[in-house]
Amino acid sequence: MAFNFDDLVTGAKDVFDKAAAKAGEAIDYSKTQLDRSQLRGKIKEKYCELGKICYDMHECGDDKTGEMKKIIGEIKELSDKLEEADISVNAKKSKTCRFCGTANDAVSAYCTKCGEKL
Ligand SMILES: [Zn+2]
Repeated sequence: MAFNFDDLVTGAKDVFDKAAAKAGEAIDYSKTQLDRSQLRGKIKEKYCELGKICYDMHECGDDKTGEMKKIIGEIKELSDKLEEADISVNAKKSKTCRFCGTANDAVSAYCTKCGEKL
């Protein structure tokens, strides 16, 4: 029996490509989750910055309205991004349980709350 090295390589590459594609999907989803918590963290930081500037302004009497406006703009931008990310995550929850009304992931077979078959 002749051993065909090319076939083996092609086969292995195929398996690898499929696994990589699957991993890519999983990474995409958790990346969205990560982005959301990062965004929340950044928004918190910006609020702290804003509070510090406000404090400094009252302490020193300097007018820092310009700096504050800049940070408020950044917070708005981050909030918009977070809202978009929330919408994209919620869009994945498209199976509503007809017993308890809980929104479940589109891929779920059973309700996460009451365990009913979806
Ligand atoms: Zn349910």
